[in-house]
Amino acid sequence: MASDDIFTSMEYINEDSIDSNLICSICQKPFKEPVCTSCDHTYCKQCITRWLTSNKTKSCPTCMKQPLSTKELVQASRPLRNMIDQLRVRCVLCEQADLQRGNFLDHIDKICPKTTTGCQAADIKCPWKGTREELPAHLPTCIFEPLRPILGYLIAENNQLKKKIEQQANEIKKLRGETPEKIGTAAAAAVAVDDDSDAESIISSTSEMCTDDTNQKEENAIFVRNLPANVKFNDVFDFFSKIGRIKYDPKTQKASLFIFKNPNNANGPCAAKVTYVDKESASAAIGEYDQKHIPQWNTKLLVCISTRKKAHFKDAGKEHNEAKGTHEEPLTEQDKTPRTKRPHHSKQSHKPTN
Ligand SMILES: [Zn+2]
Ligand SMILES: [Zn+2]
Ligand SMILES: [Zn+2]
Ligand SMILES: [Zn+2]
Repeated sequence: MASDDIFTSMEYINEDSIDSNLICSICQKPFKEPVCTSCDHTYCKQCITRWLTSNKTKSCPTCMKQPLSTKELVQASRPLRNMIDQLRVRCVLCEQADLQRGNFLDHIDKICPKTTTGCQAADIKCPWKGTREELPAHLPTCIFEPLRPILGYLIAENNQLKKKIEQQANEIKKLRGETPEKIGTAAAAAVAVDDDSDAESIISSTSEMCTDDTNQKEENAIFVRNLPANVKFNDVFDFFSKIGRIKYDPKTQKASLFIFKNPNNANGPCAAKVTYVDKESASAAIGEYDQKHIPQWNTKLLVCISTRKKAHFKDAGKEHNEAKGTHEEPLTEQDKTPRTKRPHHSKQSHKPTN
């Protein structure tokens, strides 16, 4: 049972008399999974996480300390957790009262006669579901348990095959960046079957995968427009570092920050792509700077989540889509290789003609 469901199955006894130090100020209930902020305030983990991800201002709701990230949350102290575990609760399913909250999970998992449970043959696909007290009546009639030896074998074999397919799909994905020739041979080698038609269908689906990922959102990267034409790399870096840590790009051995000059006008506003180490920083940067006037550049910035668009070599300049913050990645030598489909070998070449 998921930890959230546990709390819907129990009621506190004398909830009004519970020490106010054990009550979460967001949900007004005793702490569920208590965590502490860096400013020493305690909340349920779910409550403060939801608060920080749904509010634009990432601050502690009690003291307004800014900025606060979910990464700074630490588990509350053991004495506090012990006090919460000792709270008295009642099971709403079976009505048993005077349980300790710390033992409630055990009650649901092992004892409660009204908890929904599955058959012991659920691992070999018996679909039976019922309460724990109904289970003894099902067991003698279960048609799955007697078939355990054969079903167990078939299911294990099936899982092995699924794993193999997954590994091969990942291998094909890895090869996507390489030349079309290499993709063709790798896909053909991956299937390792004699039937030409299978090999061909894998090769063509690999080519589709190559074009599939246009306009992919990069949630830890932002696209910034309306920067002045002469903006400096270091200034952009310092400015956006105030919000969060910018990712290091091992390829360029610099921060992952690209400035895009205006393709139509060298003196026109330019754009930049900044990649943070986490998506929280990217959304914080949008909250902080989108549509805001920035005195040091005397401009109103437009900031949005970056959308990666696969570079089409021909129209690199024209396809710059300002409205959506879509942009071209700077081309690397490898990207410049035109992606042409390698002509498939015709079947005649493998088989003697009559
Ligand atoms: Zn709460
Ligand atoms: Zn605080
Ligand atoms: Zn119960
Ligand atoms: Zn069964």
